[in-house]
Amino acid sequence: MTTPPQPPSDLPARSVQAVWHPCTQMKRHEGAPPLEIVRGEGVWLIDAQGRRILDAVSSWWVNVFGHNQPQIKAAIAAQMDRIEHVMLAGLTHAPVVELSERLLARTGLGHAHYGSDGASATEIALKMSAHYWRNGARPQKNQFIGLAGGYHGETVGALAVTDVPLLRQSYAPLVRVAATVPVPDARRKPAQLSEAEWVEHCAAALEQHLQEHAERTAALIVEPLVQCAAGFVFHPPAYLARARELCTQYEVHLVADEIAVGMGRSGRFLACEQANVRPDFLCLSKGLTGGYLPLSVVLTTDTVYAAFYDDDVARGFLHSHSYTGNPLACSAALATLELLDDARLAANRDLAARLDAIFAPLHAHPRLAHARHIGLIWAWDVTDAPADFARRYAAAALARGALLRPIGNTLYFMPPYVIDEAAAMHLRDAALGALDAVLMESRAPTPSPLHDGTAVTPQAALP
Ligand SMILES: *Cc1c(COP(=O)(O)O)cnc(C)c1O
Repeated sequence: MTTPPQPPSDLPARSVQAVWHPCTQMKRHEGAPPLEIVRGEGVWLIDAQGRRILDAVSSWWVNVFGHNQPQIKAAIAAQMDRIEHVMLAGLTHAPVVELSERLLARTGLGHAHYGSDGASATEIALKMSAHYWRNGARPQKNQFIGLAGGYHGETVGALAVTDVPLLRQSYAPLVRVAATVPVPDARRKPAQLSEAEWVEHCAAALEQHLQEHAERTAALIVEPLVQCAAGFVFHPPAYLARARELCTQYEVHLVADEIAVGMGRSGRFLACEQANVRPDFLCLSKGLTGGYLPLSVVLTTDTVYAAFYDDDVARGFLHSHSYTGNPLACSAALATLELLDDARLAANRDLAARLDAIFAPLHAHPRLAHARHIGLIWAWDVTDAPADFARRYAAAALARGALLRPIGNTLYFMPPYVIDEAAAMHLRDAALGALDAVLMESRAPTPSPLHDGTAVTPQAALP
């Protein structure tokens, strides 16, 4: 069942004229226009030429149940026939109420406050935390702590806790930059320390910061277990548990940003569950709607909620977006949660084990170090990666039918949960083929000015 080749489309050229693409130096599109996608089917994207490309990054980590997913599509369509959108101040509707109840049942946290993107969830959590302390007559508690390399979105408020060098360099003057504390990245563990000692060493740095600054600190924000945007930096659940203890002890909120690792990605519904940690604030987005519509949510405790409950408007939480709690997005999220039940989470864990065996040749590849895997996330670091590795690799993988976008020298897979074994083999082969091609290319000697096609004999090179 192959689509016949289509005539070349002018859409990519029009796109670079009319669209300012995200996370993109537009000049780079001069030689390589964006790829036009016309259709999706499960884990596959179909381009304008009819080529099938495996979406191994779940379209920036949002698509958990595949493209063109029948149940999610039907839920949105049914809601569209009822009410597409109403404002959520003074009015309410079934999808937002049901979704909030279901999230409470699933996480033990409630009072769902909605935004549209991950970054807006970060903004909500930070504002809510600082406002909580203000309502409790401790307004000086308004600073934040993040983990080194943390990523929580790119709006001006979220950038304060996003520790990405390029973003810091470019936008630090706009931002009240938060304190950062070290994270026990297994790859950086000093050889003389055990894992437990490494965790304790990093926890001690957090504790020291809290000893000095807790009186001025509202919250610590973390990406539980995996800092994805930092290049898939893993830390042990024990660190998350210690961070929870220290936050409780020093009266500082813990914000769990599960925008990337939540919704089953880590193998449990929440990554926090793996450390038995209950945060004060939980941020979800990305997979929340199955990758269909933008929606984010911040869930919190009854204690936090109670601190805002008052006759005084100014003690209420002051935050809104036009599309807060959009009914279409909420019905997509409800359909996604329906699919992501406990049976599916267990099936995903079995699937992950089978995929891990299929990916064994990557674990064994001499140029891939630090193989790491949790749930449906895999990552490897390319040793001695050539210059501009990520971009060259992405092009080589695309040519082999896989959408892969390394972060720096880190190659990762984050496929939709509906990937099957045949597709996983295709992914493995495309990933290995692209790796060997990029490494081979960079081994070829750089052409010298003499090698311009004219025959050069050894004698001719002599003086
Ligand atoms: C992607 C991401 C965000 C930001 O979400 P956007 O929807 O891109 O604004 C925040 N935190 C984490 C952990 C993320 O992975």
